[in-house]
Amino acid sequence: MTKYVFVTGGVVSGIGKGIIAASLGRLLKMRGFKIQVEKFDPYLNVDPGTMNPNEHGEVFVTDDGVETDLDLGHYERMIDISLNKFSNLTSGKVLWSVLNKERNGEFLGKTVQIIPHVTNEIKSFIRQNVENTKPDVLITEIGGTIGDIESQSFIEAIRQFSLEVGLENCLFIHVCLVPFISGSDEYKTKPTQHSVKELQGMGIRPDIIIARSDTAIDESLIKKIAMFCNVKEDCVINDITLDDLYFCPNFLHDKGFDEVVVRELNLPATKIDFADWDKMLKKIKNRSGNVTIAIVGKYCKLRDSYISIVEALNHAGCENGVFVNIKWIESEDIKSEEDAKDQLLDVQGVLVPGGFGSRGIEGKIIACKVARENKIPYFGICLGMQIAVIEFARNVAGIKEANSREFAQKGDFVIDLMPDQVNQQKGGTMRLGAYDCEIVPNTIMEKSYKSMKISERHRHRYEFNNDYRDILVKNGLIVSGVNPQKNIVETVEFNNHGQYFIGVQFHPEFKSRPTSPHPLFVAFVNAAKELKK
Ligand code: GLN
Repeated sequence: MTKYVFVTGGVVSGIGKGIIAASLGRLLKMRGFKIQVEKFDPYLNVDPGTMNPNEHGEVFVTDDGVETDLDLGHYERMIDISLNKFSNLTSGKVLWSVLNKERNGEFLGKTVQIIPHVTNEIKSFIRQNVENTKPDVLITEIGGTIGDIESQSFIEAIRQFSLEVGLENCLFIHVCLVPFISGSDEYKTKPTQHSVKELQGMGIRPDIIIARSDTAIDESLIKKIAMFCNVKEDCVINDITLDDLYFCPNFLHDKGFDEVVVRELNLPATKIDFADWDKMLKKIKNRSGNVTIAIVGKYCKLRDSYISIVEALNHAGCENGVFVNIKWIESEDIKSEEDAKDQLLDVQGVLVPGGFGSRGIEGKIIACKVARENKIPYFGICLGMQIAVIEFARNVAGIKEANSREFAQKGDFVIDLMPDQVNQQKGGTMRLGAYDCEIVPNTIMEKSYKSMKISERHRHRYEFNNDYRDILVKNGLIVSGVNPQKNIVETVEFNNHGQYFIGVQFHPEFKSRPTSPHPLFVAFVNAAKELKK
């Protein structure tokens, strides 16, 4: 029988509900429970796939090919599970489905309303998730802040749901900001009290309150929150800002978080096993020295745009025992080779991440050239792989007009639109999710993965054009990974006196976990470390 945990947020957004949900998932997993997580996003987009990364951050892709909120990346990394299409629901997706049913006459002439039709749709999504994944505990994070108009149907749906499955099988966790007022030098609990009141007004009584503050708050404030918000004293947990988010599970455990969750949900009080997690934490703490990696991107304004890449670099840094400093470079700022050299000659690695559209492309191509010619380790991901192919075609194979059909009307399209992408509508229609890749022996791919067959997650419309394969290979490009079903070139390398130079059409960052860092990132950071020596 599944138990349900619902995580809501109060006072302000962005106070780490996702990290709380993920940390709880980790703690319960270490207690031996099977965990599933889902995120409800109140916005009206059907999924975040069409949103600008500078506004909404990265789009995280699951194995089964769904474009989801970046919080799912935190869940996967922290809990070490692979999520699926049931793990992210937006208001847009709910309404889309309800309206399609209405058009198909499925409501038999009834007036279609938020209650019951929209709330039923949300509840049926929760049920489907449980039927498909059969967890001991399902953790549901509701995005946004209590009081938002957009999230009301989700709150109402979980209220109804908790009555249907029994309140004894549900736990409501409310994460609130406790602000510090510097003028009077004190923390204030009133916003938390108001937020809980609002939640209670919607029929939900929180069982646990996470009081989020910058530094530790006084015990008297914990007592005050407990009394005013009608929760047990040991169910008010003070979460503070930590140096590394992976310290969060241990911190919350020490505060008794998982113990009260297990108690309140009537779960067996199993022993917790920190062995693997602590081994990883030791690596975080034992780093010394550093390498600098330049990320040459086009969505650098918002760090969350590349959050999985940043995390994967950090995982690889821990594995290599070094800190990874990131130098953010807006590709539009690179207008000449001089610009690129100014920016790149002092770094130990250049990473060109994924991206869409022609803005900033030439800057990325120049960055790739400077990396190749100066033997700075190069790692191209998705668009970054396509950039590497274009740069190689132009400057090594002499195909001067080499380009991608995404960026130009005419030219030699060494990167072309995939046949099944012609006339595709936008929104969830790219080549998405996990695909096989067969690895060619004696390549960086083989050395890194130590395996000949892998599966990685994709998100793209364009691909390596096989018409140019012979000429590029003749000029020294190495095709090191191929999709066996469709003969798609998935990875390219360049043997430049042992330089780490690789481009991959997939997104390896989505599968890197702190407890199992991704082999390509580990090899890349290792190459950076060697260069620094
Ligand atoms: N824009 C490129 C394509 O669609 C690359 C996509 C990406 O980097 N995710 O193929």
